Amino acid sequence: MTSERKDRLIQARVPEKLEATLKNEARRRRTTVSQMIRAILQDTFQLVDDVVANVDLIVSDSVDLAQRVGRDARLRGRGAHPLSAGSEAACHEPLPDAADRLSPVQAWNEVVLNQPVACTKCGAKLSRGCRAYLGLCEDPSRPRAWLCAPAVEALANRPAGRIPDEPAHKPEYGEET
Ligand SMILES: [Zn+2]
Repeated sequence: MTSERKDRLIQARVPEKLEATLKNEARRRRTTVSQMIRAILQDTFQLVDDVVANVDLIVSDSVDLAQRVGRDARLRGRGAHPLSAGSEAACHEPLPDAADRLSPVQAWNEVVLNQPVACTKCGAKLSRGCRAYLGLCEDPSRPRAWLCAPAVEALANRPAGRIPDEPAHKPEYGEET
C-alpha cells in the first residue's frame, strides 16, 4: 500500500559531469540524489526568500559553490532588496581612474550600507540599506574602494588580468630611474 503523497515530480536536464557529481555527493551523504537535491533546494530557497531562479542554476551553484562566489553572493540577497543590490544596471564602462584605485585591493567584504557610496569602478550610486563590497587593502592611506554587486560578480567570471600600469621592469635599489 502506498501512502498518499502530495510531493510533485520535477525533472531537470543536467550535464553528465554534474550528474556524476550529484551521485557521488549523494553517496557520500548516504542519501539519494533526489533527497539531496530536495534538501539543497529547500536550503537555497530559505536563504533566497522570494527570489525566483532557474532550478538548474541553483543545483549547479550548490554543488559548485567555490567557482561561483559572485553568483552565490547575488542569490543570497534577501527579501527587501532586489538581486542587483541597489545598482540597477550592470557595472560597466569603468571610470578612467578605476584600474588604479582597484589594483591595491586584496579582497572584497560584503557589507550593508548605512551611508550612500559610489562604485569605484563604474560610479554607480549605491544607496543606504543596499549591499555593497568594501575593498580591503593593506595600505590605510589609500582611499576606500567600493564595488557594486555586478562588478563583484564579474570577478568570478573573469580571471584576474594583469595590472596594465604595472612596470614591466622594477628598478633595483640604487639604480637610476
Ligand atoms: Zn559598479
